[in-house]
Amino acid sequence: MDSNRTGVLTIVATPIGNLNDMVPRAVQTLQSVSLIACEDTRHSKKLLNHFSIDKPCIAYHDHGDRHMIEKLLLRLEKGEDVALISDAGTPLISDPGYRLVAQARSRGITVVPVPGACAAIAALSVSGLPTDSFYFGGFLPAKTGQRKTALNDLKAATETLVFYEAPHRILETVVDMAEIFGHQRQAFLAREISKTFETFLQGSLDELQQQISLDTNQQRGEIVLVIAGEDEKSANTSVDSDKVLRLLLKELPASKAASLTAKICGVDKKAMYQAALELQGK
Ligand code: SAM
Repeated sequence: MDSNRTGVLTIVATPIGNLNDMVPRAVQTLQSVSLIACEDTRHSKKLLNHFSIDKPCIAYHDHGDRHMIEKLLLRLEKGEDVALISDAGTPLISDPGYRLVAQARSRGITVVPVPGACAAIAALSVSGLPTDSFYFGGFLPAKTGQRKTALNDLKAATETLVFYEAPHRILETVVDMAEIFGHQRQAFLAREISKTFETFLQGSLDELQQQISLDTNQQRGEIVLVIAGEDEKSANTSVDSDKVLRLLLKELPASKAASLTAKICGVDKKAMYQAALELQGK
């Protein structure tokens, strides 16, 4: 170790399923550092053993012990190289690491990546949905009300939307998305990417909902949801439909206002009825 040199913090991506996706430079880096900060040391030991990497590991969590960050930064400042890995994929992407990287940078420590697998990017790359501009939403809130609010905020977004979702919530999330984004919005579900039960489903949100509820295997494993953005034409329509619905609701009962709005604007009747009830505070 050179005592005048500050260590380098390397953010190392690891596979999201298939160990053959470990890039050679990730192995070399983990073999050469003094210390590996892991999300879960027991989990990472399996990966490290597989690649004959025998280095000290410590657990790191963004919201854990403040002293742990300080300890890592001091070791870096003393000239030791440190790597950060998470349980799978790219650290910091819905995984710990943000606070460590932010503080390392603010103290002038060099931070470099070893790029590799990321479930969101892998799913997006095979979704067939536009990739020129996308929004990554991480995990949606687990509580229904908060999730619906988050989805409503994204309703008019024209970028492709990418989310991680837990298997036990996938059905209710797709149902909420159909209700809020429209039943015909195109979507793509990537499950267990690079693993034995890798599965891809594509279709409208209604079609996805049907496939997931008919086949409970689709409610297992690790899942990425990719949703088409609102297209500009229907974005205009949805503004209009909202206006039309509000006007008709002043004169008509919810069901009549919803069915007329659906006919006038060419949008889904059920979704309009739901929107009408919400506008009436029901
Ligand atoms: N940092 C990771 C990355 O780069 O993808 C993501 C970590 S986040 C805690 C874990 C979530 O990523 C899972 O719940 C799932 O939504 C998604 N995920 C991870 N591996 C996956 C896989 N092999 N197939 C599909 N989704 C996956």
